Order: sequence, then structure tokens, then C-alpha cells
Amino acid sequence: MDILDIIFPKTCFGCGKKGTYLCAACLAKESLEMQICPICFKASISGKTHPSCRRPLGLDGLYSLWGYKRGVRKAILTMKYRFAFDIAGELSSHAAESLGSGFNPFPKKALLVPIPVYKDRKNWRGFNQAEEVGKRLASLMKWDFSSKLLIKDKKTLAQTGLSREQRRLNLSGAFTLKENHFPFNRPVILFDDVWTTGSTLKEACSVLKQKGVKKVRGLTLCRG
Ligand SMILES: [Zn+2]
Repeated sequence: MDILDIIFPKTCFGCGKKGTYLCAACLAKESLEMQICPICFKASISGKTHPSCRRPLGLDGLYSLWGYKRGVRKAILTMKYRFAFDIAGELSSHAAESLGSGFNPFPKKALLVPIPVYKDRKNWRGFNQAEEVGKRLASLMKWDFSSKLLIKDKKTLAQTGLSREQRRLNLSGAFTLKENHFPFNRPVILFDDVWTTGSTLKEACSVLKQKGVKKVRGLTLCRG
């Protein structure tokens, strides 16, 4: 047992049950039965983009595991603001379990690319939650992983409270792809913790596709 388990005993963020950050019952409550098309947000089987919604630089699909509510939401917020690696570990195991036992729309030879944070921010925290969960999840799913290929080199405002147009402008030019070693023919999974309006994943996807990546699907732990 870790010393931290004695000082801060693990309890479920949903119901307070001991020994875990998210118990099976609380997680099952948030399980998303419906997936959506990332363009029109209407129901879509396995989160695939509808043929009529397809856009040249758009996501080919979006898959999210849980609703951004109650215990799951608390777990994600706590991980983010307390830089908690152990919560990242538990969330990635739950995600891998869900993808392994239930529906998994992703190809085996995929490359998982986490949404990056601006380097100052990462240095200050030493922690990018999408990278920490994504790295562990990729390893459990036997996907390749790289946090070095897509970088964020523009400081942006928090997206909360911005209009759709402001969000787009805020993120415009924020991401850069390191092209030298990019496996362009590999299906890419762009990974983030939460999908709210989708502007971040959409912007990152358009950068990947402009540079020639053929297939890009989104994966998020939660959908807000
Ligand atoms: Zn619980």
C-alpha cells in the first residue's frame, strides 16, 4: 500500500465507497449508450461521421465513454487540478476495460495522439491530463502513442464562456504537427479527456489532415 492511501484513502468520487476512485456502479451510471456524429451532433452508430456530414478536414468519427457528470466529472476535475497521476491511472484502466469488453470502434494499428497543452502550462504543472491518461490507455490497448508529434505553441484563452466563433479564433493556429516522422498512413486517434463543443479536437484534426493524415477519429473519456 502506498503511503498516500493511508493519508488520503481512495474513495469513490460518486458514492464514497472505499478502495477506488470510481466504483463499477457509479461508472455504469455514466456509460454513454448513444454516440454522436462529431459534425451534426445527432445520433450515429459507433460515433461515425454521417456520410452527408463528412468534411475534408473533419473528424471521421467520435467515440466517448461516459457522460461528464457526477462522480466521473469530479474525478476528472480533481485529476486536472491536483495533477493526480493515480487518478489518471485508474481512469485509463476503466477506459481500457470498457473498450476491451464492450464496443471498440478503433483499428488495432492506431496511433493515439493526445491533445497537447502549451509548454509553459505543462512546465508549471508538469502534467497534461490528456497525455497522462492517453499514454496509459494506449499501452493497455496496444496502440502506438506519441505526444511529440502534435504540439501546442500558442497560448490560448480558456474556452469556457467563449462563443463558437471566438473559440475557433482562439484555437486557430494553436497546433503544429512535427511532420518529419509522422506516419501519415496510420489511423490516428486524437485523444482528450472531455468533449464539450468539440472545437479543440476539430482544430487539431484539421491540422493533421491538412498535413496529409488520412484517417482521424476522436476519442474522449467524457462527453459534456
Ligand atoms: Zn461509487
